[in-house]
Amino acid sequence: MPEHTGQSAAVGGAAVIVVGAGVVGCSLAFHLARAGAAVTVFDKAEICSGMSSRSGALVRMHYTFAPEADLAWKSLKYFENWDSMVGGRCGFKRTGFAVLAGSENVEKLRSNVAMLKAIGVDTDLMSIDQFRAIEPALRVDDLALAAYEPRSGYADPVETTRAFADAARAQGAAFVLKTPIAALATDAGRCAGVTDASGKTHGADFVCLATGPWTDPLLGPFGTRIGIRPERAQIAFFRRPAELRHCAIIDTVAGFYFRPDGDDLTMAGMGALAPDENSDPDHFRQENDPRFIEETAKRLAHRMPPMSGAAYVRGHAGIYDVSPDSRAAIGPIAAVPGLYVAAGFSGTGFKTAPALGAALAELILEGKSRTADLGAFSCDRFAAGNLIRAANEYTMRAEFGHVL
Ligand SMILES: Cc1cc2nc3c(=O)[nH]c(=O)nc-3n(C[C@H](O)[C@H](O)[C@H](O)COP(=O)(O)OP(=O)(O)OC[C@H]3O[C@@H](n4cnc5c(N)ncnc54)[C@H](O)[C@@H]3O)c2cc1C
Repeated sequence: MPEHTGQSAAVGGAAVIVVGAGVVGCSLAFHLARAGAAVTVFDKAEICSGMSSRSGALVRMHYTFAPEADLAWKSLKYFENWDSMVGGRCGFKRTGFAVLAGSENVEKLRSNVAMLKAIGVDTDLMSIDQFRAIEPALRVDDLALAAYEPRSGYADPVETTRAFADAARAQGAAFVLKTPIAALATDAGRCAGVTDASGKTHGADFVCLATGPWTDPLLGPFGTRIGIRPERAQIAFFRRPAELRHCAIIDTVAGFYFRPDGDDLTMAGMGALAPDENSDPDHFRQENDPRFIEETAKRLAHRMPPMSGAAYVRGHAGIYDVSPDSRAAIGPIAAVPGLYVAAGFSGTGFKTAPALGAALAELILEGKSRTADLGAFSCDRFAAGNLIRAANEYTMRAEFGHVL
């Protein structure tokens, strides 16, 4: 049986190892440590060195799948009250957010807004005239309806992740960095810890993999997998004229998203433009492709004509960890008691990380989550063939990169 890690257990507290110090792992570590668990976080690199550092960090509630919207809505409370709920900085900026729909998505948008309002989300449908009144810079002649969220915006993904890590440390969590985990350790069929790349085994009562696109290889030896497909996605920042203001937008007609970044930049993003892009999370092209810059600049200029000819400033690529149904896998691995996974966020896992960390910590330590019901995200649904299909998923151009 592996020896428990040197981290001293709080009285009555379980010892939990979290693998992965991205926004998901650090949020989980914070909530676990605050609940009295003895937490050790391992990362093969540094805090926030994976995909969280590359996030567009949109904070919006509009999903077509109610359990995801519920997590996003409950997470907004954190972004709005960061100092009292976590401490440090998350860089949240309230800008407002809109989903823009053409005629093919109008009925779906109506149904989804009704679903979101039933959860409690602060959102409303807007006619195109109403929308134009609050966003005068946007071209609207190819739009049919909008859904608006006044309290949404964006945050700083690196500040957010580091703030969770600092708050976890303050609650007693230990971070073991530059230490790749090579395998999971078991004892009598139960997950009993992790073995690092030097061969040293660290024991724990529970292990959670928050390892994004790197998750499946660690599950392989147990004959189980989520089925995560890495997909390269890009964001680019363009210079915005000083007087031009706009909210954050998901444009289902033009097939991209954009948001302001500070006072004088606009960030725009999409998924893969071509299916054969190299998406190995350890060896992918980190820079923007010229074709991506050209295409996003074109779509931005279409939707917001004053951005025509806007100068490209910088940008980068990252890897989405796309699950078989583009929804996250969160919860226990049935075949290996004591083992949990939180991965497969499919390009949308930043904004839900705060409430997800709270709910998953409850599930691990108490056997039931109170903050939000995570049952719909069960990791076993893939093997069972029970893939999630929300009732009103939008018709979108493939290169948008993920379902809403
Ligand atoms: C370009 C881009 C734009 C995005 N835009 C948005 C957005 O606007 N809004 C939104 O909500 N989401 C967005 N996302 C998605 C969001 O950023 C991710 O879902 C989220 O950051 C995932 O966090 P994570 O902690 O699961 O993964 P990561 O941040 O990737 O963390 C995983 C960590 O695990 C570590 N690790 C992996 N394997 C091992 C191992 N064997 N041993 C030790 N450590 C290991 C890695 O080093 C890494 O630090 C975007 C993503 C990208 C790429």
